[in-house]
Amino acid sequence: MQIQDKVIAITGAGQGLGKAMALTLASQGAKLALVDRNADALERAVAECRKLGVRAEGYIADIANEGEVENLFARIETAFGGVDALVNNAGIIRDGLLVKAKDGVIEGKLSLSDWQKVIDVNLTGVFLCGREAAAQMVQKGRPGVIVNISSISRNGNMGQSNYAAAKAGVAAMTVTWAKELARYGIRCAAIAPGFIATDMTASMKPEVIAKIESGIPLRKMGLPENIAQTVKFILENDYLTGRVLEIDGGLRL
Ligand code: NAP
Repeated sequence: MQIQDKVIAITGAGQGLGKAMALTLASQGAKLALVDRNADALERAVAECRKLGVRAEGYIADIANEGEVENLFARIETAFGGVDALVNNAGIIRDGLLVKAKDGVIEGKLSLSDWQKVIDVNLTGVFLCGREAAAQMVQKGRPGVIVNISSISRNGNMGQSNYAAAKAGVAAMTVTWAKELARYGIRCAAIAPGFIATDMTASMKPEVIAKIESGIPLRKMGLPENIAQTVKFILENDYLTGRVLEIDGGLRL
């Protein structure tokens, strides 16, 4: 797919990796539908993309809400005529051990609410946006690409029962959609980032960052641009589908 003038929706585009993707795709001449639930961050991201000379519109929506997602894609269709690509990027973290015990006494358990919140956004949200984007592409006979953001944690990670399960589900849906949607000219691939330096990691203590980096073969965290560059690669490579690209500096969990 040539990115110039294509309509690309990105969820969680107000900050972090999603914003880096938006700026990279804007620099390639894409028309952008940026989605987030954080209005201020979204407004700033839209303004920065417009400065690069492209059309960018912001949409406030909760990707975990079916009605809001259906409405979102209807609004994008009205504004742009339909989507050519979707990046399913929005995600949240609610970490906690399955059970926390001291001397055989249970002190805490991962709450059902923290389990459900992460599944709702990171798994159901990806399903809902992917479903609506695919339906729009198929209905309009418009070939397209869906990029899902999984995580290195999909292999299983301490304190992340909810997040790891959701991200493994995202990887499995990616393969499923690649098989189901190829007949409509739709490709689907995922990215599993390792540790990427964002605003969240910027607030971590230097010694914690140093410890994390010492365990990464490339001895440094990735940059949001490394992930944005991979989104661009997936969009442009017409023989890539059904695969999860691991962008993690060589780290294995
Ligand atoms: P981030 O900085 O927290 O940004 C995510 C954005 O998505 C935020 O603006 C957030 O809004 C928004 N969002 C969250 N839930 C939403 C919902 N239900 N509906 C609409 N928007 C929602 O995250 P990030 O670090 O850039 O991560 C982006 C993606 O990469 C996530 O899927 C994450 O799991 C994945 N990932 C990140 C890393 C990393 O090292 N950063 C590593 C592996 C995978 P609020 O601020 O209001 O929540």
